[in-house]
Amino acid sequence: MMQAVPAAQTSDQAPLYDCDVAIVGGGVVGATLAAALKDSGLKVLLIEVNSFEQAIARERGYALSPLSGQILAGIGVWPSIFPHIGKYRHIYLSDADNVGMVKFEPSDLKREFLGYVGEHKVMLGALQAFINEQCEHVNWLCPARPTRVLYDEAGAVIELEMAGQARQIRTRLVVGADGPRSQIRQSAGIKTKGWKYWQSCLTFMITHEAPRNDIAFERFWPDGPMGVLPLTENRYHIVWTAPHAEAKALQNLDEAEFLAELEYYTGGFLGKLSLTSDRAVFPVQLFQSDRYVQPRLALVGDAAHRCHPVAGQGLNLGIRDAAALAQVLSEAYLRGEDVGDLRVLKRYERWRKKENLAILGFTDFLDRMFSNNWWPIVKLRRLGLWLLRTVPPLKVLALKFMTGFWGRRPALGKG
Ligand SMILES: Cc1cc2nc3c(=O)[nH]c(=O)nc-3n(C[C@H](O)[C@H](O)[C@H](O)COP(=O)(O)OP(=O)(O)OC[C@H]3O[C@@H](n4cnc5c(N)ncnc54)[C@H](O)[C@@H]3O)c2cc1C
Repeated sequence: MMQAVPAAQTSDQAPLYDCDVAIVGGGVVGATLAAALKDSGLKVLLIEVNSFEQAIARERGYALSPLSGQILAGIGVWPSIFPHIGKYRHIYLSDADNVGMVKFEPSDLKREFLGYVGEHKVMLGALQAFINEQCEHVNWLCPARPTRVLYDEAGAVIELEMAGQARQIRTRLVVGADGPRSQIRQSAGIKTKGWKYWQSCLTFMITHEAPRNDIAFERFWPDGPMGVLPLTENRYHIVWTAPHAEAKALQNLDEAEFLAELEYYTGGFLGKLSLTSDRAVFPVQLFQSDRYVQPRLALVGDAAHRCHPVAGQGLNLGIRDAAALAQVLSEAYLRGEDVGDLRVLKRYERWRKKENLAILGFTDFLDRMFSNNWWPIVKLRRLGLWLLRTVPPLKVLALKFMTGFWGRRPALGKG
């Protein structure tokens, strides 16, 4: 499956390959960036530490905003994703089992769907196939492990190991798309600011017997929010946030007891439930990198920032990063600029860093407002929900914020 990359020259130790942009990390964000650069004229190399099969094997569903769908459509990969993902027309938001539910409807945004739920394997599988079949100027090195990156004025050299052999990549720009523990970020000395939450997320998939599969639920319990996201074939992906010990206990609970708990917490509206996946637990964390760029380096996706999973924003931010960086690099290349030059990269940072910070703050605010039983806060949030229910422009504004239709929209996402 891996395509060969022509050698530019060789050094004493290892063959040297040449490219314009080397993306380290072939997850959904790295692969989206590579695919978005397909017609840019830039020679792109995608370096992934896992094999293709391992990289897509993660059992996770992502709530995808309509803007993410438009960006993937702009790239051309959406037709192979769309038929295989869940679609929701309604979002029901509630404060635990309080009756005052806020219902977001398609008419609020004048769209058929308010969002989608894509499984990791569907999304990354489609991107891998798209890159292999339709992106002539994008090549994979996979599985390959970078061991060192050396930056100089004209570019960078990435030393890596592949199939037991040492190799070197010469590039004008390194992009770190290697997830939250990004070695590219850490080795470049870029620090992050943020915190770990007192909560973990329990994620799993279920099938249900309810007749409808087009509603996404966000239920805010005092221990943490619960996202209930519709997948295809009467399945739901559930992201259940709870304090660490409780999340661990739920993971280890006997299946019948666990399903009984789940039925209570989902309000019984899904009918009889069955588990169709393992229950995985992730500690929750928020951070923002001090810088997204420095000479010859840019960070995208979770390598640059991480947020609370409430409201399903993380990957959507990463897809927007990828589309914005692709646009900045393509325009710079067309103008004859050096794509690794800090002045070019700063355009991307100015565009994305503040917008991401706003969403990071929003997810933190939601979690703290709702994972709280102090009566003034309870009164305040009930007032907030009442306002959302009764003041339509406020509801539309909140929906636009959650679905990505605010801020500067990348050209790829303009539809
Ligand atoms: C419980 C939970 C639920 C979530 N739900 C949602 C949701 O509903 N909607 C949403 O938008 N977001 C959600 N997120 C966030 C989302 O998972 C992340 O934002 C997204 O996966 C980030 O993608 P990425 O490609 O940047 O990083 P990753 O998915 O971490 O991918 C990084 C890639 O880089 C590779 N890699 C790592 N190190 C190296 C290296 N040294 N060299 C080469 N390759 C390397 C990895 O193998 C991987 O393929 C959720 C997160 C959690 C924890």
